[in-house]
Amino acid sequence: NIIEARKAQGESIENFSFDKSRCRVLSQNENIKTKCNGIIYWMNRDCRVQDNWALLFAQHLAVLQKSPLHVCFICKDAHRMYPTMRHFKFLLDGIKSVKKECDDLNIGFYLLNSTPEDLAQICIDNNIGGIICDFNPLRYTKELQERLLKNLPDDIAVVQVDAHNIVPVWEASNKQEGMAKFLRPKITKKLPEYLTGFPEVCKHKYSAKLHLDNEVKNINDAYELYRPTWEVAEVKWGEGPGSKAGLEMLHDFMVKNLQFYGVTSNDPSKNTTSKLSPWLHFGQISAQRCALEIKSVESLYKDQCEKFLEELIIRKELSDNYCLYNDNYDNINGAANWARETLTAHKKDKRSWIYTREQLEKAQTHDEMWNTAQLQAIHEGKIHGYMRMYWCKKILEWTESPEQAIEYALWLNDTFCLDGTDPNGYVGVMWSICGVHDQGWKEREIFGKIRYMVDYSLRRKYDMDAYCAKFGRT
Ligand code: FAD
Repeated sequence: NIIEARKAQGESIENFSFDKSRCRVLSQNENIKTKCNGIIYWMNRDCRVQDNWALLFAQHLAVLQKSPLHVCFICKDAHRMYPTMRHFKFLLDGIKSVKKECDDLNIGFYLLNSTPEDLAQICIDNNIGGIICDFNPLRYTKELQERLLKNLPDDIAVVQVDAHNIVPVWEASNKQEGMAKFLRPKITKKLPEYLTGFPEVCKHKYSAKLHLDNEVKNINDAYELYRPTWEVAEVKWGEGPGSKAGLEMLHDFMVKNLQFYGVTSNDPSKNTTSKLSPWLHFGQISAQRCALEIKSVESLYKDQCEKFLEELIIRKELSDNYCLYNDNYDNINGAANWARETLTAHKKDKRSWIYTREQLEKAQTHDEMWNTAQLQAIHEGKIHGYMRMYWCKKILEWTESPEQAIEYALWLNDTFCLDGTDPNGYVGVMWSICGVHDQGWKEREIFGKIRYMVDYSLRRKYDMDAYCAKFGRT
């Protein structure tokens, strides 16, 4: 019972000792104004109320200042992070439950059709004492935060909290780590300090309405404002969007499939991974909560829990590490020298097949297994994790250059997969095409020393006919 577990933590919001290493001060000034009319949490990546260090810190500060707490979410220009209606709907449905939870806890929630400059003005107009924002290493979020900072007066502090990673990304390492084996010991050493329970976000004592112009009062109106140029239909699987649904997915996985993790989880014909990536991506569930729950059954399934936590913690946090410390996380310049050299040396190699982006998008290749993976993305908004590697590596084999392969793979991944536009996606594509976090392998055409995957090996290992029958063309 997760709610009871939170209460048993025994820390109240007033007296809990927030670990300040989860924060970075982004503004010049680091002091929250004492005479203020509220604290704002600018929610962006971590769209949940409970199990959210950024919201907990914001409430803690608001309580200390005896002032109201406001949560703001900016949906203007959201298409850069949520490229299609498929993504936007998942986001907004989750936001609806965030709003409801905030209402119940006497915390103001505002969906804003505003720019970061407008948010700065809102802070000035409402005498806000400080802004807490969450952390995302991607360019777009950094740009938004910089625009806010540029327009705020010096006396309003902006503090960022890493509410997504268990070990804050800047605490895990201060540089780009070349492989999982280098980051793993650093994270493992710090886990006892950071993998703690969460206090509960509780009913807030102080309330007031923000004065603002651009609030989207009825969340459903955001669909009208948004109007994606290119629609990809909503997908329905799992428990649906929102934190409650995410926790149910986690529970379901623990009951049904955790016991097979690492045994059948690579088999595309089985569907036994957790499928939690959309909920993690939208911040509707916290990786730390997942890790705590999984650890609670470690004595039953030691090996499986270990394997799952390797993906959920090490691999996932390695992606944030890469995107934070490498500005070229989405292009060939983000690859290591050996990988760039080998890809350049093989750039002119003859390709047996070259497909346009449109042919790839429509799953019109000669390879039934690849087409099935693409159809799974189109119809389900996801690709089985193991197939995702094969799917991406074949894009390198069937396009004109590695640069084009990266561009197409990212576009397809971000457009169709519900968990797209995520550091994990950038790293997944860069691992597949550019050998990021990998080593060199036996040299071959087109790939050079980049790891290769072959269709007959897939067929030898797994029942690929069953996979194609399940997700492919009928
Ligand atoms: P599980 O196996 O149940 O793992 C649990 C969680 O651990 C995942 O939800 C995810 O958060 C994390 N995780 C698992 N595998 C990885 C990994 N290899 N790297 C980093 N974190 C991992 N993941 C995304 O979240 N978004 C993406 O857009 C994305 N695009 C990818 C593109 C390519 C080409 C490749 C090769 C991988 C990509 N991945 C992406 C990583 C991985 O495939 C997915 O996280 C995983 O398949 C999601 O399914 P699941 O939740 O059932 O995973």
